[in-house]
Amino acid sequence: MPLVNMKEMLEDARKHKYAVPMFDVSDHAMIRAAVEVADDEKSPVILGALEPDIAGDGLDYWIACAKMAAGNAKVPVCIHLDHATTLAQIERVIAKGFTSVMLDASAEDFTENVKRSAEAVGIAKSKGVTVEAELGHVGDGIAGSGENAVTGHEDAADTLTEPAKVREFVEKTGVDALAVAIGTTHGVYVKAPVLDIERMKEINRISPVPLVLHGGSGTPEDQLKNAIANGICKINIYSELLNAWNSSMKDVLNGLKNMSTWPSVIRIKPDAALREAVRGKIRLFGSNGKA
Ligand SMILES: [Zn+2]
Repeated sequence: MPLVNMKEMLEDARKHKYAVPMFDVSDHAMIRAAVEVADDEKSPVILGALEPDIAGDGLDYWIACAKMAAGNAKVPVCIHLDHATTLAQIERVIAKGFTSVMLDASAEDFTENVKRSAEAVGIAKSKGVTVEAELGHVGDGIAGSGENAVTGHEDAADTLTEPAKVREFVEKTGVDALAVAIGTTHGVYVKAPVLDIERMKEINRISPVPLVLHGGSGTPEDQLKNAIANGICKINIYSELLNAWNSSMKDVLNGLKNMSTWPSVIRIKPDAALREAVRGKIRLFGSNGKA
């Protein structure tokens, strides 16, 4: 099936009260797991790319894997750049065939956030590429990569989305989807979050566009279901996929007797764990059977 942007996907999700999963995927194994399981579950799916994974010629590798997987699938696949901070990043991926982007200026003040999000829309819209922006700010817990995985770090505290600003933001920017801060955090939770569902209901009532939840990993299932029932149409997942893969890989490597074992054999169990994590999210979000 040809690639799609996220507009129709999210509109259908909003209408029928489910959420489309966006899996941040770092390599071929993750891309295949996300798309093949989505295909099996008849779920629309969004593949998210993170900057470190598409640096340099990583972008060529990543997009080739994503297009191949999508080309083999019968379900709609959207290819989305997660957390771009510059317009140059957005132009670079659109030239390679991405169908959707996020411009994250959420750490800036309202005026600057509006300005930069509108600039992203100016680049993307004429090419049929959808744009997500963030109002309020979803902070980082313990991030899942590099040094941060070891030391952990605290981002600037969450700033919850103010409902009164939502309509103005969407109208001035022209974005297609809005990421909201309602109490989730990126990365791994030290303590379970408590989502501000009342705030979210209010935002959803006002917002002309579908809402997105970042920091979905580790959020208690009942709270995610509640968020979906009240208007969240896209949920971003990364840390839980990494946990599934890494913990299985650790077991496999710890038990390895023959150091000449083929990588394809070593990857069997981690890959199964990854797929189970993907399937669990699709079913939790209710996107199975929707494509
Ligand atoms: Zn995010």
